[in-house]
Amino acid sequence: MNTIALSFDVEDWFCVQNMKSIFPFKEWSKCELRVYENTKYILWCLKKHNAKATFFILGWIAERFPELVSEIAVEGHEIATHGYSHTSILQMTKQEFQKDTEKSITILNNIIQQPINGFRAPSFSITKDTIWALDILRNLGIQYDSSIFPINHPDYGIADFPQRIHRINGVIEVPLTSATLSGFKIPVSGGGYFRLYPYWFFKAMLQTTMSNNATVAYFHPWEFDPYQPRIDLPILKSFRHYVGLGRNRNKFEKFLGDFDFVTIDEKIKHHGPFTRAAVAC
Ligand SMILES: [Zn+2]
Repeated sequence: MNTIALSFDVEDWFCVQNMKSIFPFKEWSKCELRVYENTKYILWCLKKHNAKATFFILGWIAERFPELVSEIAVEGHEIATHGYSHTSILQMTKQEFQKDTEKSITILNNIIQQPINGFRAPSFSITKDTIWALDILRNLGIQYDSSIFPINHPDYGIADFPQRIHRINGVIEVPLTSATLSGFKIPVSGGGYFRLYPYWFFKAMLQTTMSNNATVAYFHPWEFDPYQPRIDLPILKSFRHYVGLGRNRNKFEKFLGDFDFVTIDEKIKHHGPFTRAAVAC
């Protein structure tokens, strides 16, 4: 049976793009931190199901919880970076992106004393406009990126990007997963899509993607926390952030029982030879 590369973007409830206007970066230190307990829940679930995962950790979070980073590594999971300040690459200059990413790598590297090989952009913000970010990642020693969503979405994605693991601009790209239904591409990787769809539908769609051995799932610690502070957001943002939170732990544990999971690093190691992307970016 094929495995799924499981991943978590370790950030807190107020770090997300949907909350940016209410909780800009300079306000974060005033917010209630809930990421530690929620990540501990994830670690407990993974141990119970003998699953391994990649944790893309925000540098700002790692600074506050270095013991959590160590614990994740000691449990046999992979430590990777989600940047430092959760700023969309679409809103950064090349220099700002380099500085932000380098800072996060240094923090994580100092904690685990091992190279940081993987990167995931905040809000999947590597698009055709920011594909230059891959060159910077390569120069910072990053081996693989898992930020490109091959879907049509107003905020992110490269719709015609190949749905397979392959080399591009000197790094290995591990794209997020979409399925095809009646000729339409639908995202099935995790996050809000996992919370929104009925579980049977998510599972069936994900199974259709597994033959190319590149299926990736992602979640965030705050998605397992129905008791997080409720913020009055515009209706679409509110829906994206809060849909399905109440039943998500049950759903997630069912998911862990239904598939086998590995780190992204492990998935790449057991992948066949890579081909270059035939995509104009
Ligand atoms: Zn994020």
